[in-house]
Amino acid sequence: MPLIHTPQNINFTCSNCGNCCLTYGIPLMETEINNLNDLASQLKVSELDINRIKANSMNEYNFVLGLSTDKPCPFLTKEKLCSIHLNYGEKLKPKICQLFPFSFTYTPNGYYLYPSFASTAVIFNMGQALTQQDFTDKLNLFLEIYPNLNLDWNNIYLLDGEKIDFKKYLKHEEHILNVLDSNNFSFKDKLFGCLDYFCSLNVNQLKIKDLDNIDPKQIDGHIVSSFYNFIFKQTTDIDLNSTSFMMELLNVSKSDNLNISLDNNLYTKFRQLSKDDREVLENILSRFFYARIFAKLYFGPGFNNLSLIAGFNHLILIVLLTAIESTLFLHNNPEIALHYDTMAKVIRHVERRFTLLKYSPKTLTILEVLLTCQDRMTRLVDTIL
Ligand code: SF4
Repeated sequence: MPLIHTPQNINFTCSNCGNCCLTYGIPLMETEINNLNDLASQLKVSELDINRIKANSMNEYNFVLGLSTDKPCPFLTKEKLCSIHLNYGEKLKPKICQLFPFSFTYTPNGYYLYPSFASTAVIFNMGQALTQQDFTDKLNLFLEIYPNLNLDWNNIYLLDGEKIDFKKYLKHEEHILNVLDSNNFSFKDKLFGCLDYFCSLNVNQLKIKDLDNIDPKQIDGHIVSSFYNFIFKQTTDIDLNSTSFMMELLNVSKSDNLNISLDNNLYTKFRQLSKDDREVLENILSRFFYARIFAKLYFGPGFNNLSLIAGFNHLILIVLLTAIESTLFLHNNPEIALHYDTMAKVIRHVERRFTLLKYSPKTLTILEVLLTCQDRMTRLVDTIL
């Protein structure tokens, strides 16, 4: 059996909240459709809305149950329980439901578990520590669903053009995870610690300074606005091509999008959140950040083949945007009592967008330039958190 690595400090036991069945289309293999139709007629569920989707070379998921993302799964009962699970046990549910909220990243060093932050129990760290659970069955199920998901770790880069091997990568990751694991620092200080680590590597390109004659904060603001609009305002397009990205960056696209500079006090609202809200949000964001790094889902074959440093900084950017969006929502809706539900909603959205994000080759080149400036990342972390 291959080695399975599980992340520290993350817990999960299904809380039966039903949230994971409330809003998502359920990917299905062709072989599962007959079984599901049979179950639907036995359980007196109305006709299933099953649609063919684009084939994916990595797996057999060519169909989806319920394309609409705002309708609950028809098998979900009023009590928010799965009627298939309730009546026939877990094994008859669609395979993807049996696997949820877990996935694995294949590496030469074994499989790394990733708990999806689309799960409310994962978001709020509910239940048993993952390190105390056995994931052998889940890995077998994952391999059954994704038999061809052997990622190629032979072409990974510290920075564009600076190749490293996987062993060397693990050394860098060890430093980063050690910083993130330490209990005595705030999330902000941990991010500074990681950025300092990459700076200490003395890679020339990291010293690229801001462009002459342009206020660096202006570019920072454009980058944050562009990504914010892409992650939170566009709901369908997951392919970011270089033209639309440059249009956003140059600020010539839709006028109703967020358009902010780093001097705008919009950012500083995060610090004005109540102590409790801030602590909860920081806790969620730091575990999300840790889990993605642990599972290597932020660079190389784990994410769009970005270099390690560009991928790391891109992940920081996504976390900062999540903080902005949660904060904005709470500020604009002070009457909403269920702050934690709001945070969960934002992080579920981010998780989904992040998982599906696809950058065109030209956009990746632009990101390699924009996101490897450590001065910029330090400035953004300092301003936003
Ligand atoms: S089949 Fe069951 S577990 Fe899967 S989404 Fe529907 S209700 Fe949830």
